[in-house]
Amino acid sequence: MSYTKAKIATRKFDVVIVGAGGSGMRAALELSRAGLNVASLSKVFPTRSHTVAAQGGVSASLGNMSEDNWHYHFYDTIKGSDWLGDQDAIEFMCREAPKVVIELEHFGMPFDRNPDGTIYQRPFGGHTANYGEKPVQRACAAADRTGHAMLHTLYQQNVKAKTNFFVEWMALDLIRDADGDVVGVTALELETGDLHVLQAKAVLLATGGAGRIFAASTNAFINTGDGLGMAARAGIPLQDMEFWQFHPTGVAGAGVLLTEGCRGEGAILLNSNGERFMERYAPTLKDLAPRDFVSRSMDQEIKEGRGCGPNKDYILMKLDHLGADTIRKRLPSVEEIGHNFANVDITKEPIPVVPTIHYQMGGIPTNINGQVVVQNGEVHNQVVGGLYAVGECSCVSVHGANRLGTNSLLDLLVFGKSAGKHIVDFVKNSGEHKPLPADGADRTLARLNQLQDSNDGIYAQDIANDIRATMQQHAGVFRTQASMDEGVVKVADLRSRVPTVTLKDKSMVWNTARMEALEVDNLIEVAQATMVSAAARKECRGAHTVDDYEHPADHPEFPLGRNDKEWMKHTLWHSAGNNLTYKPVNLKPLTVDSVPPKVRTF
Ligand SMILES: Cc1cc2nc3c(=O)[nH]c(=O)nc-3n(C[C@H](O)[C@H](O)[C@H](O)COP(=O)(O)OP(=O)(O)OC[C@H]3O[C@@H](n4cnc5c(N)ncnc54)[C@H](O)[C@@H]3O)c2cc1C
Repeated sequence: MSYTKAKIATRKFDVVIVGAGGSGMRAALELSRAGLNVASLSKVFPTRSHTVAAQGGVSASLGNMSEDNWHYHFYDTIKGSDWLGDQDAIEFMCREAPKVVIELEHFGMPFDRNPDGTIYQRPFGGHTANYGEKPVQRACAAADRTGHAMLHTLYQQNVKAKTNFFVEWMALDLIRDADGDVVGVTALELETGDLHVLQAKAVLLATGGAGRIFAASTNAFINTGDGLGMAARAGIPLQDMEFWQFHPTGVAGAGVLLTEGCRGEGAILLNSNGERFMERYAPTLKDLAPRDFVSRSMDQEIKEGRGCGPNKDYILMKLDHLGADTIRKRLPSVEEIGHNFANVDITKEPIPVVPTIHYQMGGIPTNINGQVVVQNGEVHNQVVGGLYAVGECSCVSVHGANRLGTNSLLDLLVFGKSAGKHIVDFVKNSGEHKPLPADGADRTLARLNQLQDSNDGIYAQDIANDIRATMQQHAGVFRTQASMDEGVVKVADLRSRVPTVTLKDKSMVWNTARMEALEVDNLIEVAQATMVSAAARKECRGAHTVDDYEHPADHPEFPLGRNDKEWMKHTLWHSAGNNLTYKPVNLKPLTVDSVPPKVRTF
């Protein structure tokens, strides 16, 4: 059978939200509570979204356990971002943090408690008191299952507020009209294989990260960057895609995450000499330096022959000195993961870890209201009518070149809420739905039928694996210019092969092969955005470390290889021409003084 226009059913909503993770559900709550008719789409049951896997905590300067205030949080986030974060957005997030976390508590979030009843807070990488002096306890936690607790809390509130969930629906493309406004999406109902058009006054993308463009990743298998692909195909650039965070402690060989909360509770990293090597790299914060720093230091130890194990290719994380009681109370999932994925009892022996892909700092460019913004000639940040983005798929940009742990769950709450509020006003002030363009579903129909008609070609899984292997090899912790340039050529070649993906099983009901084939269209957009943006950035900043520019001896004017004069700017990758443009970083906060760039030591 083939897909035809005549068979497409159209439904109308005030707002369509693509994604029911923490960010999508926080926004949905704001909208449903305001009485809007909201459709929330998710590829999986909402509480299986990747937010459920978040372990360590959500940051807010509550100061429950050590002296803290939002100015310290603001400073840490800017320094963590290696001065690529926009200071207006960072101020907004850090000021809002205590409010949205207390609000979440009032929604019913089961946080761990201190004896006085306040929320338990643990230290986390890069979060400090008194502008870098010492670690601070800022991560609000529910044991090591913070995301699980948060996602379930938000889901329950949404059920109460009567959000319409479309479970196991996959959005495929944005529909833009002749004015460039977004007026709906096309979506596949996985249970039936039917194609639908969902018309809306506003569409919010909340599709999460794309960590599955890499071979070894802490991310869920559904994290294929669908929202980024949809945006890129609709002519919206992707921002700062060269910046990917490696989490220092993925289980070696398995990729499963062991939260930074382990080190927050006192775990330490050791090399093959039994040395706590982070003392050398970051004398003040040691194992609690930001993630880019720790990951690089670990790789350096391995490169210099001090890795552990028979192949000297991993680092050990030691937790047994915390005591079995603390581990079971604060890190129960980590203990389970040790048994299940490394065959290690962490209460007795150290566990092998390696830096593993974890988070994308870049994404769909937005302002602090979640409105998607694009460049129009000399004008930066022009709003795209009817389109919003929040969560890991967006780039506002609060994380800049390197995110601090626990700032993502916070970002979901702050910007999910602010986008929700803005959409409520936008919908209330807009009239009827704009008409759908006659060719609105054409791209989707053509792609689905191309797969239906294909008889031979490559399997989606094979090309997806090739993309992952290429990214792993050419966009790792340490990059070289030559390797990135080679990666650009390889990804372009992979892209030319994507249209030849074949679908052998053409059945309609719950056809996961069709879903995987469609996901490849998104993986390739994200992979190419990453590779091209990375190869063009000729400096080291945050998670983007390039061997060629790293050594201050060759570039005394750029300490640690960072070149603020030429590169303190955001990258924008455009899919249509596979080309780049740039826009300035906003160094002006909303109300306080700017934090000027300086050398980043910890
Ligand atoms: C293992 C792990 C631990 C982490 N721990 C922490 C932590 O302790 N603290 C912290 O701050 N951050 C942490 N992070 C990061 C943080 O959890 C994520 O950045 C965040 O949860 C992403 O939320 P989101 O709402 O953007 O997307 P997600 O929670 O990933 O949700 C995406 C949603 O989009 C849907 N979707 C995707 N594509 C489509 C499509 N085409 N059609 C329909 N629906 C679609 C999915 O079904 C899902 O509902 C962790 C991340 C990982 C991987």
